[in-house]
Amino acid sequence: MTKHAVSPPGRQRRTFMLAVPLVAFALCSWPIGETARAAEPGKDTPVANLPRILVLATGGTIAGQADPRATGAYKSGQITGEQLMQSVPGLDKLAKLNAEQISSIGSQDMNDKVWFALARRIQDAFDKNEADGVVITHGTDTLEETAFFLDNVVRGDKPVVIVGSMRPATAISADGPGNLYEAVQVAADPRSRGRGVIAVLNDKIQGARSVTKTNTTSIETFSSPNDGPIGYVDTAGGIRFMTQAAGVKRATYQLPAGDQLPRVAIVYSHANMDAVPIEDAISHGAKGIVLAGVGDGNTSKPALDALEAAAKQGILVVRSTRVRSGFVTRNVEVDDDKNGFVVSEDLNPQKARVLAQLLIASGVTVPAELQRAFTATW
Ligand code: ASP
Repeated sequence: MTKHAVSPPGRQRRTFMLAVPLVAFALCSWPIGETARAAEPGKDTPVANLPRILVLATGGTIAGQADPRATGAYKSGQITGEQLMQSVPGLDKLAKLNAEQISSIGSQDMNDKVWFALARRIQDAFDKNEADGVVITHGTDTLEETAFFLDNVVRGDKPVVIVGSMRPATAISADGPGNLYEAVQVAADPRSRGRGVIAVLNDKIQGARSVTKTNTTSIETFSSPNDGPIGYVDTAGGIRFMTQAAGVKRATYQLPAGDQLPRVAIVYSHANMDAVPIEDAISHGAKGIVLAGVGDGNTSKPALDALEAAAKQGILVVRSTRVRSGFVTRNVEVDDDKNGFVVSEDLNPQKARVLAQLLIASGVTVPAELQRAFTATW
């Protein structure tokens, strides 16, 4: 089933009639059968010994509510983090939870202000030892960008888990409760330390650098095309990591003053591409341009010429790709050394944009250093 599935006419009415009482029911209690675990980890642990998990709510479909006027339609970000937590049975056996509302938005509206607020709150909670781990509830559309941003700015090795859902709280078979339960489980597990920001959805644990949304509406939407999940959570409550933790997270970037990252545009390449989108980006004050190139981060001659001219003006040009997997390689079809370009390696355009913003804000201009930041992550 999809978020906006079109049902056959006979079913639509039945679904609507069912949906009305479900709206009320689901708001106070998510279906226990969806979230019950054969063995609940921590169920015998005295409350005082449970890990402290800070839940930071930002909105998204996980906090969405159905629009009673239309089957399948809903609004993101309607339920608070506190309400979300209350509605998942057994969460209080996993951790001592404290929820704070950072925003109530669909993640299509995610912005620098919310990112900075999240980063500061997490750092503060870790620096003051107020929490052993953090769970962020978030819309799925830009979840990967928030994960990657935070991964690059939050210091320390405590777990930061980001979670969302594809179906709103009021849907039949909502995926939010199970996802939130598993996110708290992962955040509470000491083996999650030293892994940077991780995403937990649909029984998979995935790294901030690689996780990406790959399906518009299916609950099986997040994948890591180049390296696969770093772990799995199964229905009996077990967590299996497939990789070793790296230990204390590598050096991170400072948050720029003024709650705003520099302007970096993403330009999408296609057949018959001209230079207009690049010229537009420059005329609107872009300090960097990420090319969502064809193939190995390539584009047409006019667009390449415009990018070369941009790089000569001091604009950071990063070649990424519109292709879902693989690495963009230096100096193969495009002469990056001559043109002054950087390649994004495995970073998709939306993540390459975040790293470009952080590098520009940090004043990094030496080409080799810029390239190292995209390349040398492990
Ligand atoms: N538009 C929603 C959001 O990203 C979609 C979702 O959460 O699944 O907030």
